[in-house]
Amino acid sequence: MNEAIRVSLVSLGCARNLVDSEVLLGRVVEEGLQVVTDPEDADVVVVNTCGFIETAKQESIDTILSVASLKEDGNLKGVIAVGCLAQRYGDQLKEQIPELDAVFGLSDYSNVPSVVRRIVNGSDRRWVATVTGGKPKGATSDRKRFLLTPQSYAYLRISEGCDHTCTFCAIPSMRGKNRSKPLDVLVEEAQGLAAAGVKELVVVAEDSTAYGLDIDKKRHIHTLLERLGSVDGIEWIRLMYAYPHTVLPELTTFLREHPKAVKYLDIPIQHISSPMLRAMKRGVKSEQVRGILDRLRGEVPGITVRSTLITGFPGETEQDFQELKALVQDYRFERLGVFPYSREEDTPAFDMEPQIEPEVAEARAAELMELQRGIMREFHDAKVGQVVDVVVDGYDEDGLLMGRSQADAPEVDGRVLLDAATAEPGTIVRVELTHADDYQWRGRVVAGDA
Ligand code: SF4
Repeated sequence: MNEAIRVSLVSLGCARNLVDSEVLLGRVVEEGLQVVTDPEDADVVVVNTCGFIETAKQESIDTILSVASLKEDGNLKGVIAVGCLAQRYGDQLKEQIPELDAVFGLSDYSNVPSVVRRIVNGSDRRWVATVTGGKPKGATSDRKRFLLTPQSYAYLRISEGCDHTCTFCAIPSMRGKNRSKPLDVLVEEAQGLAAAGVKELVVVAEDSTAYGLDIDKKRHIHTLLERLGSVDGIEWIRLMYAYPHTVLPELTTFLREHPKAVKYLDIPIQHISSPMLRAMKRGVKSEQVRGILDRLRGEVPGITVRSTLITGFPGETEQDFQELKALVQDYRFERLGVFPYSREEDTPAFDMEPQIEPEVAEARAAELMELQRGIMREFHDAKVGQVVDVVVDGYDEDGLLMGRSQADAPEVDGRVLLDAATAEPGTIVRVELTHADDYQWRGRVVAGDA
C-alpha cells in the first residue's frame, strides 16, 4: 500500500498568512496527503513566507535555506515557497535559491498538492511550478482549514487586500485591493470552527473596519459581528486591525453591549503628529485619531486598546517623536507594539528625505517600549485580586498551563499562567488574578466553565 506523501508547513508572518497556511493544508489533506508537524519527517516542506519588512523577508529566506538543508542528509525531497515574499519576489527567489522546487504567489494554492506529488514522483524538470505575480485570489471561503492554532481560538479572515496607500507599506502591492468575503460564507466558516470546538474567533483583515465597502460602499463590520455572535459554540469575538478613520457608533455599541464581544480593539495608528500622518498618507488628521481613541474609552468602559507605532519614519523630527511619546504617556494603551521604520523598496517612503538613521529609529522605539513596560505593569498590577474570564489555550513547551484574559490577543499580548490540571484546554473559566509582572498574570481557577 502506497504510504501517504507527508507534507510539513512552516507559517511565517501575520495571522492573515496563518489562515492561508491553514487553507493550503486543508487542501493537502483533501487531496489525500498527510500533514506532519516536524519538517524532518516530511517528504516536502512548504514555507509560507512574509514579505512585509526587511527583517521578515530575511527570516523567510533563512527559513527556506535551513529547511532546504534537510535535503542533503534527510529524506526531504522538495521545498516549496508560497506567500507574500513569493508573490513579491517570485522570479528572484527562483534565480537566487536553487534549492527551491516550486514558488507560488498569493493567487492560487489549489495546485500545491499536485505539485507536491510531482516533486515526490521525481519530476525531472528542475522547476515544477512558478505561479507568481498573478492577481491575488478573490475573497473565497476558507471552510476546509487545517487549524494550526490551539482549539481554544481561530482566526477568521474577513477580507483580502487593502485600499489604503500608506507610504511605508508594500501589502497592497502584494495582496491587492480590499475584497470582502460574503457575510454568509463567513458565518458558515464560523459555524465550522465552532463545530471544531473553537471558543474564540479572532477577526482579522488588513483593515477590518473597511468590511463591506467594496460590496455596497457601506461599512458592515458591526453587522458581520452581530451575525457571528449568533453562532452557537462561539463565546468570544475579538476584533483586530481596525483602521483609525471611521469607527462607527454601531461598532462601539457591539463592543460595549454584545455578550460575546471581547472588550478589546486592536487599532494600529502608526503615528500621531500631523506632519507624520501626512507623510505616511494615513488619510487621517491627528485630532481625528485622538477623537477615535477617546471615544473608545468613553463609549466602551473597561476596553483594552492595542495599537502599533512606527518610529524613525522619514522626516520624523524630535518634536514629532516627543508628540508621539506624550500620547503613549497620556493615553496609556494597555497593549502596544512599536517598530522602527523599515525602508521598503517599491514603496513611496523609500525615496523620501530625510531618511532617519536606523540607530535613531531603534533608540526611539526602545524608549517608547520602555515607557510602555511601566504602563503595562501598572495595568497588570491594578487587576490583581479581580476575578476574570480566561480562555485556556493549553500547555506551553515548558509544561505551563496558559490562558488569556480578554485583554490578551493570541501571539501578540500577554497571558495568564494557571496551575497545571486546574482547567481543561479549550474551555473558558473564571480566574482570580493573583500575581502580575510586566507582561503577564498568574491566576487561580475559582470556577469552571464561565
Ligand atoms: S492599512 Fe496601510 S499599513 Fe495597513 S495594510 Fe493597508 S496600506 Fe498597509
